[in-house]
Amino acid sequence: MLLSVVIPAYNEALSLPELITVLRRTLDPLELDYELLFIDDGSRDGSREVLRRFASADQRIKVLAFSRNFGHQAAITSGLDFAEGDAVVVMDADLQDPPDLLPSMLDLFHEGYDVVSAQRVRREGDTLFKRMTARGFYWFMQTMVDKRIVPEVGDFRLFSREAVLLLRNFREQHRFMRGLVAWLGLKEAIVPLERLSRHAGKTNYSLLRMVKLAWTAVCSFSALPLRLSLAVGFVLSAGAFGYFVFAAYAALVTKRVVPGWTSLVFLLCLFFGFIFIALGMIGDYLARIYEESKGRPLYVIGGFDNIAADTLARPRAAVLAQRRPEKPGAKVTREP
Ligand code: UDP
Ligand code: MG
Repeated sequence: MLLSVVIPAYNEALSLPELITVLRRTLDPLELDYELLFIDDGSRDGSREVLRRFASADQRIKVLAFSRNFGHQAAITSGLDFAEGDAVVVMDADLQDPPDLLPSMLDLFHEGYDVVSAQRVRREGDTLFKRMTARGFYWFMQTMVDKRIVPEVGDFRLFSREAVLLLRNFREQHRFMRGLVAWLGLKEAIVPLERLSRHAGKTNYSLLRMVKLAWTAVCSFSALPLRLSLAVGFVLSAGAFGYFVFAAYAALVTKRVVPGWTSLVFLLCLFFGFIFIALGMIGDYLARIYEESKGRPLYVIGGFDNIAADTLARPRAAVLAQRRPEKPGAKVTREP
């Protein structure tokens, strides 16, 4: 059997040689063929050169290099598009996902599971803040979005070929892989994982990026925010109506009417605030529909190693010709 290991890498030049060494040490003794498929997500730290060097020495190391940074999820998408294995593992390039787990993941694959997910039981090196936000995130995902989303399962997973073929059908722009896997309802096994700290470099997920991912997760899988704003609207309107009854009673019966600018302004702010929130949510969904309707490529491949050029065509993906200078963002100015 052939195992594909899909590895998105963004500015990981310092981790890649160690990762390749560890992967070889883990996979060589196993009775299988393997390919290591790296997706260089527009790195600017020399990762591309490191990968090219390894690829020229070993046919099993394959590289897709994006023309710019398209993001982690797009890199995973292209990895799944090009992986040829009977089983495909997606893992990070920074050695936070320990390769020693691969044999037990493969065992579960042989037992017939379509997805084998590594569940983080301990997070070494993650800050308290990251742990807390991650916990909050999974709680929110399960209660609000889809209870089938397994907590503490990241993108370190093994997929059977069937699962990969299914996942390839999803060509949406805003994607949250974990949500797609939950949505498909595949037969899933869980292995515990002690997440290590990064081998080198620092995390690419800033707080803002995590919030964006969480928002994509919510609104790509449910219209809950839209409905929520509707519910809040009803509650507020009911409250306003109650307040109106109280104000009328005060004016007509007790006749103790305070010239209440304060409450008036308060209510105005409240309702305008709500209207703007609701409009913003509708606007966000609309923007997503707009972006999907453009049907742009999900990623652009600017270079590749050990992959036949005539096998590169994929739906909603673009490939640049090879004669151009390949370095992302390399701009040359010539004297006139
Ligand atoms: N990554 C990527 N493109 C990006 C950001 C990250 O391909 O725009 C890769 C990165 O190289 C790593 C994986 O995605 O292999 C996870 O990223 P990171 O380690 O920064 O996230 P964390 O582990 O802190 O959640
Ligand atoms: Mg990491």
